[in-house]
Amino acid sequence: MSVVIVGGGHGGASVAMELRRNGYSEPITIVGDEAVLPYQRPPLSKAWLKGEVDESGLTLRPLQWYVANNVTLRLGTRVQSIDRDRRCVTLADGATLQFSSLVIATGARARCLTMPGANLDGILMLRTMLDADRLKQSMRAGANIVIVGGGYVGLETAASARALGANVTVVEREARVLARVACMPLSKFFTEVHVSHAATFELNASVVRFVGDTHVRGIELADGRILSCDAAVVGVGAIPNDELAQACGIACADGIVVDAHARTSDPHVFAIGDVTRRPLERYDRQVRLESVPNALEQAKHAAAAICGTAVPPAEVPWFWSDQYDLKLQIAGLAFDCQEIVVRGDMATRKFSLFHLKGDVVEAVEAVNAPVDFMFGKGLIARRLPIVKEKLADAAVPIRETLA
Ligand code: FAD
Repeated sequence: MSVVIVGGGHGGASVAMELRRNGYSEPITIVGDEAVLPYQRPPLSKAWLKGEVDESGLTLRPLQWYVANNVTLRLGTRVQSIDRDRRCVTLADGATLQFSSLVIATGARARCLTMPGANLDGILMLRTMLDADRLKQSMRAGANIVIVGGGYVGLETAASARALGANVTVVEREARVLARVACMPLSKFFTEVHVSHAATFELNASVVRFVGDTHVRGIELADGRILSCDAAVVGVGAIPNDELAQACGIACADGIVVDAHARTSDPHVFAIGDVTRRPLERYDRQVRLESVPNALEQAKHAAAAICGTAVPPAEVPWFWSDQYDLKLQIAGLAFDCQEIVVRGDMATRKFSLFHLKGDVVEAVEAVNAPVDFMFGKGLIARRLPIVKEKLADAAVPIRETLA
């Protein structure tokens, strides 16, 4: 009996912790291709970039934890292939590891752009600690930084760059930032906040070429304008690292397909985190959720299934983002919602947007409003109806908004 975990990121380390917490006493090995202890990525675009935390602040557990808990780390090496019949994996150095259960936690990689000039120096991505180190070096006061992509990573990077005194232009192909992941009022709010911090936006704008000899000096937009820059950050989404699973015949569909308990199409193989496409029963869909809470939830499910312990309860998906002095917390997914109720005054930068189907809350987006977020998350889980007029009135205590 032994568990091999492929990927030493947030999900990989968390499933090892959950296995030990559940009393699993057999050997556990984590194989990770980054040559550092498993660490958390969220600070990479926030506190780490601004120099507010060092490496020890990113690490999920110190080395002593892995030693004390008999978790073997094989870091700086890749799993090359999975042999499902022989139940072993082969590493890049030719070693093989047997498993009784395998957990694939290979995450996702930053999507690259392929237009002319995309390989110039100074065009940076943000997925790993190494990426963040490179980026930090470019973010000096007065530098001109163009950020391609107005998603969460792009906007958090923009906020950090402004905090460091760099000049920032965000180029977004869609008509609004956060188009895939937030509602229109929230996109507008965040655009205005960034503009108030002197960031510039180019919306409905596509990059056709990066300009420069060896180092990027500008980006050319589809309308012919060239925005000059000292560095460009590309934050245009992530691609799941599901090739290992595809190659050994495990079902994939833009991500490894898993059930609600992180099981793949092979009963001995589990998959968790950004690499998975998972069901969300409440929303009747299969989705890829790129978030820490999702990786943690799936780690609990995989560990419980491997140990034969009680199935953990399903959780409401949630996410957070920090930009300037704002903490955004989102719970639930606003699919097919009919109405948005605003609670609080957006001008005060403390408010919540509740997405409703009838009188039931399906999702909440809360800015500097942790109580609304927590209450909303509970409402979503329990499907409790609310009274819209009370919810919209911030003078009514949130607990008194139930129908
Ligand atoms: P990862 O943490 O990416 O780990 C996967 C690991 O597997 C990587 O080290 C990878 O190199 C390795 N690997 C891949 N293939 C192999 C192989 N064949 N052999 C060995 N190793 C392999 N989420 C939030 O909830 N809130 C946030 O504010 C937030 N901010 C973020 C900011 C940034 C800049 C980034 C990049 C992500 C952020 N996220 C945030 C997302 C969050 O970090 C991810 O959802 C989480 O890391 C997923 O964990 P994972 O284990 O699935 O993948």
